[in-house]
Amino acid sequence: MQYDVLIIGAGPGGIFTSYELAKAKRGLRIGVLELGNPLNKRKCPIDGKNVKSCIHCKTCAIMNGFGGAGAFSDGKYNITNQFGGTLYEYIGKEQALELMRYVDGINLSHGGEGTKLYSTANTAIKKMCLENGLHLLDAQVRHLGTDINYTVLGNLYDELKDKVDFHFNTAVTSVEKTEGGYLVHTEKESFSCTRCVISVGRSGSKWMESVCRDLDLPTRSNRVDIGVRVELPAEVFSHLTDELYESKIVYRTQKFEDLVRTFCMNPRGVVVNENTNGIVTVNGHSYEDPARHTENTNFALLVSKHFSEPFKDSNGYGESVARLSNMLGGGVMIQRFGDLVRGRRSTERRIEENFVTPTLSATPGDLSLVIPKRILDGIIEMVYALDKIAPGTANDDTLLYGVEVKFYNMEVEIGNDLQTCSPGLYVIGDCSGVTHSLSHASASGVYVAREILSQL
Ligand SMILES: Cc1cc2nc3c(=O)[nH]c(=O)nc-3n(C[C@H](O)[C@H](O)[C@H](O)COP(=O)(O)OP(=O)(O)OC[C@H]3O[C@@H](n4cnc5c(N)ncnc54)[C@H](O)[C@@H]3O)c2cc1C
Repeated sequence: MQYDVLIIGAGPGGIFTSYELAKAKRGLRIGVLELGNPLNKRKCPIDGKNVKSCIHCKTCAIMNGFGGAGAFSDGKYNITNQFGGTLYEYIGKEQALELMRYVDGINLSHGGEGTKLYSTANTAIKKMCLENGLHLLDAQVRHLGTDINYTVLGNLYDELKDKVDFHFNTAVTSVEKTEGGYLVHTEKESFSCTRCVISVGRSGSKWMESVCRDLDLPTRSNRVDIGVRVELPAEVFSHLTDELYESKIVYRTQKFEDLVRTFCMNPRGVVVNENTNGIVTVNGHSYEDPARHTENTNFALLVSKHFSEPFKDSNGYGESVARLSNMLGGGVMIQRFGDLVRGRRSTERRIEENFVTPTLSATPGDLSLVIPKRILDGIIEMVYALDKIAPGTANDDTLLYGVEVKFYNMEVEIGNDLQTCSPGLYVIGDCSGVTHSLSHASASGVYVAREILSQL
């Protein structure tokens, strides 16, 4: 089959590339190859009763399929250049923000209308943070919620399905350069195209490495973020979450001068498993619908680990740490903060008697056996620092789930047009190493589509 543009991966990057290309009505033949299922067939078998932990399905319903890793996410679209990726380094700060606002407009017109846009502008919380050695990053955040996010994706698919050829359950195995473009091989058949946009996200990171090797695309990598997910009563953070929804707060530890930051805050949300390349880590989300709210708020505390020569495999390091928790706990491990600082493991009984009820069933254990000391010390320091602006954070009953790992794809060398050194081959979204969020990945999709249209 011959396409003008073939997109690999139907996450936000791939969806917004195809949306923008189709919207131009230029009669282009556009195809999307996605290894997972259509949105309505994505169903994780973990139900907490019959299936309690990950059974390693062939494709992970949480990470793969239409909507990508973001399909069951909290649907937080952050409009900012301060975090979520470095797209602005390629396309400029103004344009990056403009594209994120454009994506926001599309989400609103596809079912997201009425959802709230939060902002850090003029907030007194910034001053309160500074007074306590904490730094609140600037952002606007649209919170769609897991439910509305799903509706938006469904509406986008309905609009695109007659204009774009979607091939689901189609894992791309390799990409071959040909004279007029690319031959994209899958397990079943091969597709040819003039231009190829790769947007395989974090779950496609290993495969992306093989593409870079095959096509000789220069890369670099040296970072992984390791930490825990914190869960506490929603009241403890309500003065922040009611006003800002999500606050990205950064703290420099006194002991090692490492930076620890809050990440992915989910007011009244749930903690969930995440499966990356067969390793179970932890994440979280929340629903817009008040009927589905819980009594808890969760967020991650992460420490960035940058490696220097000769070590290159930062993701491998993160995986090894996560594997340790999988080895000891059979998956994600949970510990009360009080147990952690007393140097003892949490037990089933201590978790049962805890004042905070966990929203994820995880194995009680000892995170100090899993997380490297320097990182764990930083996390403990940060919990006490947050306790000053949100008293109760450092309570004994605060729950910590481990490990949360944020893998960064190696950065593929691309130009300002997001094109690799192989003409007609573009790498966007999280697999480029340039974006790490829904808004940046989506914006990179719109941008690359416009670049392609401008060249035709
Ligand atoms: C539980 C969870 C919650 C999150 N919450 C938020 C949030 O609230 N806000 C936020 O900004 N970010 C959030 N994120 C991160 C966000 O989802 C990602 O940054 C975003 O989805 C990246 O988009 P992408 O298109 O680059 O990649 P992905 O969304 O990962 O999509 C890539 C797609 O490519 C497919 N693919 C991979 N390899 C192949 C192959 N070989 N052949 C064919 N297809 C392939 C995958 O199946 C996948 O569907 C969350 C992530 C998770 C897992």
